[in-house]
Amino acid sequence: MEKANIEKFKKKLAEEEKNILAELTNMAAQDPTDKNNWVPKIDIDAEGMSGEGEDAMQTITYVKRIGLVAQLETRYNNIKKALQRIKDGTYGVCLISGKKIELDRLNANTAAKTCKKHIDEEVDVI
Ligand SMILES: [Zn+2]
Repeated sequence: MEKANIEKFKKKLAEEEKNILAELTNMAAQDPTDKNNWVPKIDIDAEGMSGEGEDAMQTITYVKRIGLVAQLETRYNNIKKALQRIKDGTYGVCLISGKKIELDRLNANTAAKTCKKHIDEEVDVI
């Protein structure tokens, strides 16, 4: 990949990493024993609610938060791995076929680990 493109994606990844980290820090606490794991915080403000209504609202919000934190955590870890691949000089190479990942795919998902052909197998790639 051209150096200019790598620089562009690196900048995009660093920006995304910063934004996601801010969101994660808002909603969760980093597990001190496993830095890739985030534990959702429980301090949810159910504004205007009281008693049982407040409890129910907090439960719903907390369940949603667990899902959201899990998504953000995965994204955050993928971004960190992509940044590592930039350092290693292997960024933009499909981890399954070893072929170049299409630029439009990387534009849509900067942390992509596979080319379009192997898009469905990405979940299995570490
Ligand atoms: Zn591939």
